[in-house]
Amino acid sequence: MNDPLMPPPLTDDCFALPAGTHWTPVAEAHAMLEDRLAVVVGTKTVALDAALDRVLAQDVIARRANPPEANSAVDGYGVRHAGTKDGPQTMALMTGRSAAGAPFEGVLAAGQAVRILTGATIPEGVDTVILQEGVTTDGAQVAFHGPLKKGANLRQAGEDVEAGDVILTEGRRVTPADMALAAATGVSDLQVRNRLRVAVLSTGDELAQPGEDARAGQIYDANRPMLLAMINRFGFEAVDAGRAPDDRAELKRMMDRAAETSDLILTSGGASAGDEDHLSALLNESGAMTLWRLAIKPGRPLALGMWRGKPVFGLPGNPVAAMVCTLIFARPAMGALAGEGWRLPEPMMVPANFTKSKKPGRREYLRARLRDGKAEAFASEGSGRISGLSWAEGLVALPDDACEIAPGTDVAFYSYAAFGL
Ligand code: AMP
Ligand code: MG
Repeated sequence: MNDPLMPPPLTDDCFALPAGTHWTPVAEAHAMLEDRLAVVVGTKTVALDAALDRVLAQDVIARRANPPEANSAVDGYGVRHAGTKDGPQTMALMTGRSAAGAPFEGVLAAGQAVRILTGATIPEGVDTVILQEGVTTDGAQVAFHGPLKKGANLRQAGEDVEAGDVILTEGRRVTPADMALAAATGVSDLQVRNRLRVAVLSTGDELAQPGEDARAGQIYDANRPMLLAMINRFGFEAVDAGRAPDDRAELKRMMDRAAETSDLILTSGGASAGDEDHLSALLNESGAMTLWRLAIKPGRPLALGMWRGKPVFGLPGNPVAAMVCTLIFARPAMGALAGEGWRLPEPMMVPANFTKSKKPGRREYLRARLRDGKAEAFASEGSGRISGLSWAEGLVALPDDACEIAPGTDVAFYSYAAFGL
């Protein structure tokens, strides 16, 4: 079932920058992406048990209250509060009981008690439940101490959720707890977005496939397995678009195929303006590319364009820069395209466990991890150090302005998990 009303597709000039733009601050790049990107995937209905991690296409409404009827929060005895008094007292115990799924059919009068178990519907006439530990019984009578608190040990109908309440909102990614909430309130299927398909294409004559012998001058393609895995973790559908040589015609053919099988194309390498930067040359030829020079370290220009109607994120080839640019720019963009809306992760402010003097002019991302509540930074900032990406468990973002970090200075830490990894 496809959404009958789809917004217009992205236009070829959707990534154009205002004239004179030089180094674009991260916040401005975010604002432009947020402004220009919109959902590109349709909707369908899925059964609740297939809804984990799917993006909701509409608000979910409770069909039933939780709890649907008043029930007992404990094992004990139900009474009518009006028939109780202060001090020790006895009451007649009714024959029968109310158990979860097997309610007591009768009506209780003041001065009577009825056995009631956890989760059982409250019988008519009962407004208070006495905990069984506070009661003695011989099977015909119960004895207990007053005073009782009226309404004690009862869960009221709808005290959690009322029928008709919005329980989950459009754009939310369904969690295991959401599935419990939907099930409890009588929702058995959900309108979700089709999964965003994200193609990953590596470029460069120097790349060899892991597992193959690498010739002199070759390196293994590290970006493709990383990016495909990131997309999977984000909950999108990763499409392996392969490895393109530095050959314009072959790259074009592979880009055509990627565009046919995906909603978004992530490429790495070849995005600058060098002789062998075929990706930017190709996108430029089609008239739909802008090189976004981002005021960010690590990261070189990001080539943003459209290919056969599909947005293209031309990531830097360097794996560290490719990962940082994916987390900082491509991840929120994917959310917008996938129907989650534009969202940025929340940082955790934690004391640094390192020293750093930073110049003004660009935002800097350090490979970092938390130990004993403090942020440690990877010893080398060398952007070729893939081992630092693996060592890290997140990023520390240092502000665009100059700053001096000493041990104990608060810094903004974003765990990989905060990005959805
Ligand atoms: P480029 O942007 O094509 O100039 O590449 C920048 C650097 O990243 C070069 O050192 C490339 O060899 C390297 N590189 C490009 N693509 C990959 C990849 N898929 N895996 C590992 N390194 C890469
Ligand atoms: Mg290259």
